[in-house]
Amino acid sequence: MIYFDNSATTFPSDRVRAVINDMMTDGLSGNPGSLHKLGAAADKAYSDTQAAVAKLLGAAEPEIIFTSCATESANTAIRGFMSRNTRAGKRVISTKTEHKATLECLELLAKNGYDVVYVPVGRDGKPDLAELEKALTEEKTALICFTLVNNETGSILPLDQIVALKNKVSPDTKFYLDAVQALGKMSVDLHKMNVDMCSFSGHKIHSVKGTGVLYVRNGVRIDPLILGGGQQKGMRSGTQSLLLAKAFEAALEEAVETMEGSHEDIAEINAYLRKELSARNAQVLSPDDALPNVLNVAFEGFESETMLHCLEIYDIFVSTVSACSSKAKKVSYVLLESGVDRKTAANAVRLSFSRYNTMKEAQDFIKAVDDIYDRFAVMK
Ligand code: PLP
Repeated sequence: MIYFDNSATTFPSDRVRAVINDMMTDGLSGNPGSLHKLGAAADKAYSDTQAAVAKLLGAAEPEIIFTSCATESANTAIRGFMSRNTRAGKRVISTKTEHKATLECLELLAKNGYDVVYVPVGRDGKPDLAELEKALTEEKTALICFTLVNNETGSILPLDQIVALKNKVSPDTKFYLDAVQALGKMSVDLHKMNVDMCSFSGHKIHSVKGTGVLYVRNGVRIDPLILGGGQQKGMRSGTQSLLLAKAFEAALEEAVETMEGSHEDIAEINAYLRKELSARNAQVLSPDDALPNVLNVAFEGFESETMLHCLEIYDIFVSTVSACSSKAKKVSYVLLESGVDRKTAANAVRLSFSRYNTMKEAQDFIKAVDDIYDRFAVMK
């Protein structure tokens, strides 16, 4: 099997499996809320895990909230911030190329009378900074929402420029960042990055599904999305899962340890595929300076889904548009918003790599593409 769909999800690493296995076999931990010693031990282990994750992300322990996924993190951050900070106003700035986890929150806010402004993005997927400056200057803005690495194209946000611009023209505006596809692939040092809220997902970094994190900078107030027993300092009620928190920690630790070496290997795979595919019947749609983990390509004469299923015959797995919306058979809104024409976007396929992919797989992928053109192109 060749798995080139790592932006959709990754397989749990051996270290993550071992952590989960140990937790399942060494006796399940107590409820961190219980007063007896099993509870106290679980509570201590949970906050140790929170502290370890905070350290790996360049944050402080109380700034880390464990969630079930990045979608929950995004909902908590965006909706929680806007409902808590009514005095900051009702204006939010973002782009139309955000993940649906952000876009759907913004659409809900717009329905409820908030003023949501979308700045356009260029063919490189980056927001138009002149338009952003104009939008930030013309009216008081409560929140800006951007994505560090786009999940469909790998386009990288000019984060430092945006932070500097916001701090210059609208210092009180808060910044929510989706760093899901950046985590473990580029340096994430939250205090240095100077954002106010940031979301992460464990299943994109070889943890298991059900593991997410939300960072909320010290001093930023948000309303919790999930109410109940007041766990995690009231920010996310529900009995804490030490197992899932530890699975996230193990995956993050490993991602950070292996990041440098795997970045080089993945960059080599990406460069090889870009060259080989461009020399064939494919057009590379990811920008030149995109994160190498994501490569979006349009195959001439093959609609996205047809190519996906052709590749599947060879036991090769890729995505059309992002996994959560791919069943809707839509053309990628990210590509359309970035100025790719509809005909080309309809043929787009996303390849996404992890540290477990190899150059041999990339070479086999090219052989499969050649075979697919030989076998199927004439039949079409
Ligand atoms: N943000 C981005 C950029 C993503 O790629 C994804 C998942 O595809 C999400 C958010 C949502 O993550 P989760 O699956 O953990 O809810």
